[in-house]
Amino acid sequence: MGAGVLNAPPAAVAPPEAWPRPAALARRSGALCCEGVPLSAIAEAVGTPAYVYSLGTIRERYATLANAFAGVPHHIHFAVKANSNLSVLRALRALGAGMDIVSGGELHRALEAGCDGGDIVFSGVGKTVAEIEAALRAGVRLLNVESEAELEVVDAVAGRLGVVAPVAFRVNPEVMVDTPHAYIRTGEKGQKFGIPRDDIGRVAQAASRLRHVAVRGVGMHLGSQIANADPMREALPRLLEALATVRGAGHRVEWLDVGGGLSVPYLPGEAPADVSAYAATVRAAVAGAGVTLLLEPGRFLVAESGVLLTTVLYRKQANGKAFVVTDAGMGDLLRPSLYQADHGIVAVEAVDDTVTADVVGPICESGDFLARGRVVPDVSPGGLLAVLTAGAYGYTMASHYNTRPRPAEVLVDGDRHALVAERERPEDLLRLERHPLTWRSA
Ligand SMILES: *Cc1c(COP(=O)(O)O)cnc(C)c1O
Repeated sequence: MGAGVLNAPPAAVAPPEAWPRPAALARRSGALCCEGVPLSAIAEAVGTPAYVYSLGTIRERYATLANAFAGVPHHIHFAVKANSNLSVLRALRALGAGMDIVSGGELHRALEAGCDGGDIVFSGVGKTVAEIEAALRAGVRLLNVESEAELEVVDAVAGRLGVVAPVAFRVNPEVMVDTPHAYIRTGEKGQKFGIPRDDIGRVAQAASRLRHVAVRGVGMHLGSQIANADPMREALPRLLEALATVRGAGHRVEWLDVGGGLSVPYLPGEAPADVSAYAATVRAAVAGAGVTLLLEPGRFLVAESGVLLTTVLYRKQANGKAFVVTDAGMGDLLRPSLYQADHGIVAVEAVDDTVTADVVGPICESGDFLARGRVVPDVSPGGLLAVLTAGAYGYTMASHYNTRPRPAEVLVDGDRHALVAERERPEDLLRLERHPLTWRSA
């Protein structure tokens, strides 16, 4: 994606029904349904904006990935930051998933969702002492450390608790990855993530001198929306090199974490990730390495399961341009504003006509849009739209900007639906604020 980020992508002119959507999202006599439930019924029950997730789609995605790695010792750890709703986590847990977390808050969620410490891998470049301590008390499987300084803090905290911390080194393999937006690349040279591959030997030596860490894993995470096996093919030998280096320093490494990043199709005609090619590449590379694989998919497991339901509030024209104003905006779904990401937008009740418009939210920012210059269904005020492929990095990136409560979340299973997060109320947003004030002297 180059400099012309404000221009509509060519995909904008594709008809709404050409945008990719999973089998679970089909029309019945014109009415868009999630599995067996008409989306209009959900909007009626909980209002809009609302996120709706198909449990069947999550199950199907999980099975696809698990089957691709059948016969290889592996664990799938869901990247909680993609969708951290407790009911989604519980559903994935029930399928056998562990969790990949990046904060103390996500640790709390994972434990609330029924995980044991042993089901949890803790990633992230800036863990605090309090987070490290909570993770060690919970008995996490691995702390993925990203620097020598962090390793020393983990050692000190573990020493204070009288435990030995199981750690993995997150290696920066320094490969160029062709993702749709620079902000979702993490495995390139010069990024904040991981230990530079040339430093692995030195950090492994340092770990040998520390008494309260045991290096049990080596890992990487290349970034997100990786559509083919090429970056993996390039990065895996470097990861295995790091594995050999760490073992050479005397550490008993049993886990190899290849990260997440498998892509999903957002755009018309975009191909789904080639899961079998991805799995074949990983399987071939690690055969005989004597490790158990850890996979950390986020987006792949949940993105396609979700839609964001929104109501058209107004239609307007300004200087020859058409706008569709919706009750959902960047506070509900940030991806279009943050990453210039494109999500399909379809009508919940089928309409024949389309209009080329900017679909914009209610927030006081020009950057608040769901789509620009897009061919969208010609839906009148009061009508419903569904923003597609919104199950990952949707609700988890929602904010209160403009003092807007976050939307409701609904889970669908067959012909049943359940509210899994209530819509916030304005009073929820004021709960932590204090008045009258308790002033304290310096
Ligand atoms: C975000 C993240 C993931 C998941 O990435 P997806 O693109 O959603 O699969 C996995 N591992 C780590 C360390 C991450 O930060």
